[in-house]
Amino acid sequence: MASIELQAVEKWFGNVQVIKGVDLKIEEGEFIIFVGPSGCGKSTLLRMIAGLEETSRGKIFVGERDATAEPPSKRGLAMVFQSYALYPHMSVRDNVGFALKAAGEPKDEIAKKVDEAAHVLKLTDYLDRRPKDLSGGQRQRVAIGRSIVRDPTAFLFDEPLSNLDAALRVEMRYELAKLHRSLESTMIYVTHDQVEAMTLADRIVVLEAGKIAQVGSPKELYERPGNLFVAQFIGSPK
Ligand code: ADP
Ligand code: MG
Repeated sequence: MASIELQAVEKWFGNVQVIKGVDLKIEEGEFIIFVGPSGCGKSTLLRMIAGLEETSRGKIFVGERDATAEPPSKRGLAMVFQSYALYPHMSVRDNVGFALKAAGEPKDEIAKKVDEAAHVLKLTDYLDRRPKDLSGGQRQRVAIGRSIVRDPTAFLFDEPLSNLDAALRVEMRYELAKLHRSLESTMIYVTHDQVEAMTLADRIVVLEAGKIAQVGSPKELYERPGNLFVAQFIGSPK
C-alpha cells in the first residue's frame, strides 16, 4: 500500500477547465469520499487518479513514485466497476480470476489467489455459481473480488451503488464499511449522495465546480462547514 498525493492537478477539455488546481494527500488505509453535485468533476478526478484520463497540469504520486504519466496498468490501482459488468456466462471463480488469466498467470497461482479473495469476501460457497444466481450484495463482492486478486494499492469506486434500489443501497453501504475494515486498504469513492459520504468516509472531500470546497471528517464538515455551499450540501443546521 501507499499514500496517493495530488499536487496542483488540473484538467482541461479543450479550453474548458473542469478541475481547477486540486491538492490532496490521501493516506494509506483511508476511506476517502469525493462528494459534490453532478458535473462538479468527481468522475474526472477519479479517472485521472486511475490513469483513465490524462492529467493536463500538476502531478499525481503513488507512494514516492510520480505516476502522472503512467498508464493505468502501471499504477497498481483498481477501479471497481459496477456489479453488472460481471461476465454472465462465467462462474464466480472465473470472474474473479479473469484478470490473472488474461495476464497469463499459472493456473495454480490463480486458484490460490481466487480462494484467498473468496475467503476475504465470504464468497467461498458461491464460487461455482453464475452472477444471475447471486444477490445484489454478493455480485458487488464478486466485482470487488476481481480487483482484490491483483492486490491493488487502492480501490477506486465511481458511484457503485447508484443503480441499486434503496434497500440494497443500505445493505451495500454496510458491506463496504465492513470490507474496508477487514481489508484495511485505501478506498477512494465518488458519490453525489451525502448520506453515503457521511456514513462511510474517514474524510470527505467536497468538490464545487472543479475545486475543493472543504476536506474533513464527516463530523468536522457537519459541525464546522467552511462555507454556505458545504453547509447546504452536507445539510448542516444553519
Ligand atoms: P461528476 O462526476 O461530478 O458528475 P464529471 O467529472 O463527469 O462530473 O464532469 C465534470 C465536467 O467535465 C462536466 O461539466 C462535464 O460535462 C465535463 N466533461 C467530462 N468529461 C468530458 C469529456 N470527455 N469532454 C468534455 N467535457 C467533459
Ligand atoms: Mg460522475
